[in-house]
Amino acid sequence: MSYVPLYPVQTYILDELRKAMAFNKRVVLMAGTGLGKTQISIEIIKRALAKEKEGCFVAHRILLIEQTSKAFSSQEVHHGVVQGDHPDYFPERRVQVCSVQTLKNRATPKADIFFFDEVQVWFKVYEKIMAENPDAYFIGLSATPMTKGLGKHFTSLVHPVTMRELIDQKVLKDFEIYGPSSIDLTGVRTSNGDWRKDDLEKASDKPKLTAEIVGTWLKLARDKKTIVFSSGVPHGRHLEKEFLKHGIKAKEINGYMTKEGDDGANKIIEDFREDRLQVIISCEMLIAGFDVTAVDCVVWATSTKSPMKFIQGTGRGLRKHEGKETCLVLDHGSITQNMGFPDDIEAEFSILDDGKHQTSKNKKKDKPEQLPKKCPSCDFMKAPGVQVCPACQFKPEFIQDVEVSEGELKKLQRKTNRVYTKEEKQSFLNQLNQYCKEKGWSQGAASHKYREKYGVWPNKMTKYICEPIGEEVRKYIQYQNIKYAKTKNK
Ligand SMILES: [Zn+2]
Repeated sequence: MSYVPLYPVQTYILDELRKAMAFNKRVVLMAGTGLGKTQISIEIIKRALAKEKEGCFVAHRILLIEQTSKAFSSQEVHHGVVQGDHPDYFPERRVQVCSVQTLKNRATPKADIFFFDEVQVWFKVYEKIMAENPDAYFIGLSATPMTKGLGKHFTSLVHPVTMRELIDQKVLKDFEIYGPSSIDLTGVRTSNGDWRKDDLEKASDKPKLTAEIVGTWLKLARDKKTIVFSSGVPHGRHLEKEFLKHGIKAKEINGYMTKEGDDGANKIIEDFREDRLQVIISCEMLIAGFDVTAVDCVVWATSTKSPMKFIQGTGRGLRKHEGKETCLVLDHGSITQNMGFPDDIEAEFSILDDGKHQTSKNKKKDKPEQLPKKCPSCDFMKAPGVQVCPACQFKPEFIQDVEVSEGELKKLQRKTNRVYTKEEKQSFLNQLNQYCKEKGWSQGAASHKYREKYGVWPNKMTKYICEPIGEEVRKYIQYQNIKYAKTKNK
């Protein structure tokens, strides 16, 4: 029998889940991609099978049904598949993998334990299944179970590992957020907890802003594989046009397109995956579930008030991929300023929404000082309480100091400023020399860059040595270019 051992983190998650299940029959497990939630489900189903129980795994995307069925088979969990006229239809088996859409038209399945995959998308049929299996266990799986009213159906939330922990453990890639030229949200109304779509489209879809968004991207992310989120389909088309104008292979994709065929959505995604497209633009379609791991830039050409959307959308750029460093996030919608960093929002989430209390709203009022601030010099999104910009070293004026220092005691800084040794400074200069040499510039240019960084000329340094450019210097040069690009934009 094939046996896939659990990773320590999965064992931990499984323990936490079982602790919750000891007192609750309806539990949401908040676990993102990379945590192996399928593997955890398999473990639980195996234990259930050992006790002569029955299990049912329900998903709403065909791809996930296939993946789950494959994973179950690879570990000899014999099961049937309930999805259209799937060839593996074996209703007598004790484990079933089901499509929500198919269940709508069939008899409600009976089991002792149910999994609802990606439970942030809620279906009426779930309520029927729950009602007709009153004694069963229900486990909702989701990376972002922030859906309104989910707490009416589940009594417990298990959130064993945060996004930040996953980044720190290198399961996910880290990100950096910049907030260049922003959409003017004045007058944009709110509806159902998010910006009203028609207002938002009007505010975002402006030729000057579109040119600025693409212009910023050209300066900062020219080589990056990019997802752009637009405010609507026409806006996406305008962005596409602007990218094409600059010779960038970009394509807008939306849910109204046919899937198959040469112009179909599947072909566009395939072209993007195979690098025949560099930029893919969508309004809603790619926010969740889109899985091209090479993406290393996410552009919010729109705005949102939905933490779920922000976490999911940004998460598209955090998957591990060979050669990928950090994910660059260009937030043109003031999302970070209004809500905070996606990983902070994710970490703070601890109560399912019961549809009664506006938890997120109340929370925000309690601690407005904890929101990130934009560096006035380079647009880098600084963590609450951080004064000197970690990206460009800019130190805000006195008034802003007072403003940001409020939150300082409450929250740890994400990045601290370093003190450099003489050897490090020399090495820094050597790498700048290398950079300027590659660009065909004189050593004087390197000295200038050195002075921008340390505030003094490199008079005490040996001037003409070169060494390979490392990560930190590469980043520093990028930041400087961003800063320069910004002053030029004005
Ligand atoms: Zn800065």
